Amino acid sequence: MSDKPKVAFYWCASCGGCEESVVDLAEGILSVVDAVDIVFWPVAMDFKRADVEAMPDGSILASMINGAVRSSEQEEMARLLRRKSQVVIAYGACAQLGGIPGLANQFDREQILKFVYEDSPTVQNAAKVHPQGRYEEDGRVATLPHLWQLVRTLDQVIPVDYYLPGCPPTGKLLQDALDALLSGSAPPKGTVLAPDVALCEECPRRDTKPTDLQFTGFKRPHQVQIDPGKCLLAQGLVCMGPATRGGCGGLCIQGNMPCTGCFGPTSRIKDQGAKFLSSVCSSIAATDEKGIDDILATIPDPVGTFYRYGMAGSLLRARAGRQAQA
Ligand code: SF4
Ligand code: SF4
Repeated sequence: MSDKPKVAFYWCASCGGCEESVVDLAEGILSVVDAVDIVFWPVAMDFKRADVEAMPDGSILASMINGAVRSSEQEEMARLLRRKSQVVIAYGACAQLGGIPGLANQFDREQILKFVYEDSPTVQNAAKVHPQGRYEEDGRVATLPHLWQLVRTLDQVIPVDYYLPGCPPTGKLLQDALDALLSGSAPPKGTVLAPDVALCEECPRRDTKPTDLQFTGFKRPHQVQIDPGKCLLAQGLVCMGPATRGGCGGLCIQGNMPCTGCFGPTSRIKDQGAKFLSSVCSSIAATDEKGIDDILATIPDPVGTFYRYGMAGSLLRARAGRQAQA
């Protein structure tokens, strides 16, 4: 193996989109491969866990870990890569904030398993068979990773040096992060590697955003003919831009779709969902209780809307009572 800096990629509870985003570097990936040795990337290369275990501690320059942490195997791999790496980057919304998998923290593990293996409309499982952690037959033993009670963000499991936000991060952010690491000009540890401004600040529609919004109801994108030149919040669409970090290039806005918040909060916001919820509630047009309830009822899934990416890392973290890491 050459003496180029070593880089690893790993996925935990992830959809695979973050892995795709590395490929989105297109021909840029050639300069990455030129500059570093990729020593571990299960989705694309045939290195094994034993190969990582055999490496000296700290020998990997940077590990980019995407996905939330839900299982014992994901936790073990995160701890192993932490030990072997000088720098760990939480790559993407799931690793940074819990992401879509974090929404599972509204439910018990047993509820989830029952739905997936018994109640889901497409399941036929008359014997109600569930996965077993350990299975033995003819002297051979197979084991499965343990599913923890809660989904956790990467930094709830291991110390994280940098965060690359997005669902998934853009190729530009990844390229900038690699350039900074390789040139030794990385920012202070703990930095989110994207501009620390709200998306509204860099939104092409910002001049049409009213200063005194008054909501009489909310609509979903398929229910309305969206004006491509006007602020989406002003059109009654839930656009998370005011509570979300910029740096994505406004890709959803350019596609005439509201921001769903995947870049997480800026450094001045502690809880992205609570921040957005409080600003929405302070701009409700009605003043009586029923009128307020009617307007809020036009948001069909408030948790999935305001905490779509941030549930596991939020102040709430999970539905009350679901705290045990068993
Ligand atoms: S951040 Fe988005 S793209 Fe990346 S693993 Fe999570 S859901 Fe998939
Ligand atoms: S609320 Fe959405 S559409 Fe309006 S300015 Fe902010 S990011 Fe742009």
